[in-house]
Amino acid sequence: MGGIPVLILKEGTQRSKGREAQSANITAAKAVAAAVRTTLGPKGMDKMLVDSMGDVIITGDGAKILREMDIEHPAAKMVVEVAKTQDEEVGDGTTTAVILAGELLAKAEELFDQGVHPTVVVMGYRLAEDKSREILGSLAKDVSPEQEDILLNIATTSIKGGEDHSVKMKLAEIAVQAVKAVVDYTDGRRVDPKEIKIEKIEGGSTEDSELVLGVVLDKERANINMPRKVQNASILLLDRALEIKKTEIKSKIDITTPEQMMQFLDQEENILRETVRKIENIGANVVLCQKGIDDVAEYYLAKSDILAAKNISESDMEKLARATNANVVNDLDAASAADLGSAGLVEEKKKAEKKFIFVSECSNPKSVTVLLHGGAKHVVESADIIFNDAVRVVGAVIEDGKYVAGGGAPEVEVALRLREYAASLTGREQLAVYKFAEAIDIIPKTLAENGGLDSIDMLIRLRSQHEEGNRDAGLDIYTGSVVNMAERGIIEPLRVKIQAINSAAEAASMILRIDDVIAAGRGEKMPEMPPGGGGY
Ligand code: ADP
Ligand code: MG
Repeated sequence: MGGIPVLILKEGTQRSKGREAQSANITAAKAVAAAVRTTLGPKGMDKMLVDSMGDVIITGDGAKILREMDIEHPAAKMVVEVAKTQDEEVGDGTTTAVILAGELLAKAEELFDQGVHPTVVVMGYRLAEDKSREILGSLAKDVSPEQEDILLNIATTSIKGGEDHSVKMKLAEIAVQAVKAVVDYTDGRRVDPKEIKIEKIEGGSTEDSELVLGVVLDKERANINMPRKVQNASILLLDRALEIKKTEIKSKIDITTPEQMMQFLDQEENILRETVRKIENIGANVVLCQKGIDDVAEYYLAKSDILAAKNISESDMEKLARATNANVVNDLDAASAADLGSAGLVEEKKKAEKKFIFVSECSNPKSVTVLLHGGAKHVVESADIIFNDAVRVVGAVIEDGKYVAGGGAPEVEVALRLREYAASLTGREQLAVYKFAEAIDIIPKTLAENGGLDSIDMLIRLRSQHEEGNRDAGLDIYTGSVVNMAERGIIEPLRVKIQAINSAAEAASMILRIDDVIAAGRGEKMPEMPPGGGGY
């Protein structure tokens, strides 16, 4: 036939099609998974991340690593998105999700080689994903917020770097107590991690970290003549300034003599004195102000033995309201004692050479603060990442009330039952469900590998336990034995496992459905595409 080729795309556009495009995408996505593979599990390695400013973070957190890696390839970016979604949704299981996405793609390629069409693979994966969710649900156990031992185990399982047991325990305990404090029971059980404020303190050891039942403000008292410490505090939260508005002065006053000036200042002083008297009458002995406080007002507040702090951020004001059960006041004439908050102790304290105001010992605070200590900046940063994960998993499990065993146990069970399910299917999707099951095996295999164990051997032992009905049999990385992980206290929120499979399968399917990559010329070179396979 022949003829003149018709160009429909602009010059400089890069295009790869069919099998070649798929292959390139899969290779890129697999590379992302490979980058985090060695970090999986309690014996997984850490990565040292150095940013462009030279700051160092050491972490084994998959999401954190990928976020800092600056990945360019479009398909690889989709896998990075998996980690992000996982991190946003549940805060843990990011490495698991990414490794799984990579493996699902690798297995899909094997199916392509056997001549299975991508659409069939995607459909089969979809069936397998739904089935996995059902299987995981059937494995889950119930937990209530009162079962602290279980919550503690969930927190410690999420905390990596088990070398220092006491640090791990300390952070887990704080996470459990902090989350328990802020649970909102108005509509089911909701946990907002933002109600747990973290103050990072460079100095001391991580074990010195503590939970404050209230809010710690990165502030000093407004004036040194004010009391440093107030017990049984009645706290006024004020979102207006305690000063005379400058505009009022400019527009109305015309001062010509020194006497008039004196009179004017007296008048100004009187207004502020009157304002402070109102505050006293309401019954406050602590004033926390979002705006400024005039020197004169400070003087009268100090004279009345009131501790005050100024220029507090709006977000801290909201936290203070929730911690002390106060209403933020604007109009003092409309305010009453009912608007005041309470705290057992308000105190200015020094931590690592810095002054803070502790609004502490609140009864039933719905917002709390955690002081995270660490000997050096990167230690505090790592502790922060760890602690956040612990807070998220404890929060997830309190909200859902469901958890599963860890150490590869649920994955082995899911893979096993998926194979049974596949056998019950007839179409070619069956092949994809089998491959999905094979892909899930990557989790126990990688856990074993990273623990320095023989992965094939371990998988065989795990499977035989599960075939005998031991659904919680998993790999104890520290002893290298197959044990009941639930009894061993290695447990995780159900939500983490469901979300990991869900987001991995979704990303894999999205990548598999692409058979044409059309990249506009950007004047610069497009990200390198690895060489693809033959025609499709
Ligand atoms: P992710 O980012 O996916 O959470 P992690 O590196 O935190 O990755 O590893 C999580 C995996 O490690 C989970 O499968 C969890 O069950 C497992 N795990 C955690 N602690 C242990 C342990 N002591 N023994 C065996 N497996 C463990
Ligand atoms: Mg984890």
